[in-house]
Amino acid sequence: MKEFKQSNLLQALPDQFFAKLSKKVAEAVHEGRDIINLGQGNPDQPTFPHIVEALKQAADRPINHKYSPFKGFPYIKQACAEFYKREYGVEVDPEREVALLFGGKTGLVELPQVLLNSGDLVLVPDPGYPDYWSGIALAGAEMYRMPLKKENRFLPQYEAIPEEICKRAKLLFINYPNNPTGAVADLEFFEQTIEFAHKHEICVVHDFAYGAIGFDGKKPVSYLEADRAKATGLEIYTLSKTYNMAGWRVGFAVGNPSVIAALELLQDHLHCSIFGAVQEAAAAALLSSQECVYEQAKLYERRRDVWMKGLSDIGWEADAPAGSFFTWLKVPDGYTSEQFSDLLLNEANIAVAPGAGFGAHGEGYVRAGMLASEERIREAIDRLKKINIFKKNVDSQA
Ligand code: PMP
Repeated sequence: MKEFKQSNLLQALPDQFFAKLSKKVAEAVHEGRDIINLGQGNPDQPTFPHIVEALKQAADRPINHKYSPFKGFPYIKQACAEFYKREYGVEVDPEREVALLFGGKTGLVELPQVLLNSGDLVLVPDPGYPDYWSGIALAGAEMYRMPLKKENRFLPQYEAIPEEICKRAKLLFINYPNNPTGAVADLEFFEQTIEFAHKHEICVVHDFAYGAIGFDGKKPVSYLEADRAKATGLEIYTLSKTYNMAGWRVGFAVGNPSVIAALELLQDHLHCSIFGAVQEAAAAALLSSQECVYEQAKLYERRRDVWMKGLSDIGWEADAPAGSFFTWLKVPDGYTSEQFSDLLLNEANIAVAPGAGFGAHGEGYVRAGMLASEERIREAIDRLKKINIFKKNVDSQA
């Protein structure tokens, strides 16, 4: 069989670090082992029933059996605008300031392609969500990694970026509540970001994938709440985590009209829009009561509390995240993040994501997602206790 060679473009794509992890976990499950999988970011709860019901009804409507309008139906853009007004008090022009996306990932990967030329520079968080790198590679652009450190509350330090890098940078990715660290940002940070980006004419992309998941009574702040946010960039919102709709592939970009137009132009060439029934259900999700969303954030918070208390009891000291469903945990001395993840998988049947997969500054950490029931999280703690590698365990045995 002739093997066709992949294009240079494909060969330039970064390695999919987490494909390796998924394979190891799948093999362990295949062997019949009972794995507690905290390694992925896939919500474990079903989509809320009223949204599924809206899809069922919309699926019967013949208008949805045709091609949807290229840019999506006007009502979905209207719903996105109403959502931003209601949730964040931000005025958005549904026609010029909203672009429908096949999930947030698609928009994040498309952005470098619609704004950059080969050799342009992008500022990315490290550790950070690896799909940013994919879009940058597809655009033939380069990236500068901004370290996110615990002592800086996992926020980038713009003043530490060399002047010549600032001059070359065209795009900046940030993401709060943050994957993988669970850190959150406040309005002041977004204002500093805008100040920095405005000075250097950089387009800000705030990935708000975990916008609905804030803890301790604090609602995550939208980038668009800051002054001049739209003039300086945009936010990418997804329904995947807010409504447990990861499989539905629906999200939207909201903000700077020139960037929205660029995204829509590329999409005109790449796809026809999302299935109309999914658009109707997405509008129902955005416009109906958000009580289920608030309840769900509380569910993640309870899981977080069980997990953090359990970790502290066994001597694995870590800071509780303020948002997202991730916990970011330091690995004990003497292990790389990958070695430690392998150890947890092999000896405790627990899957976590090695921090190195999120960038060099992720080394020394693992990410554990609160995507299992409280009961399973307690079970994970029991398993960790049994492998006996944390200090308190050792002390308590002495
Ligand atoms: N951004 C971050 C930080 C994420 O963790 C994810 C999902 N894992 C996404 C964006 C993309 O989500 P989706 O494509 O499902 O909208």
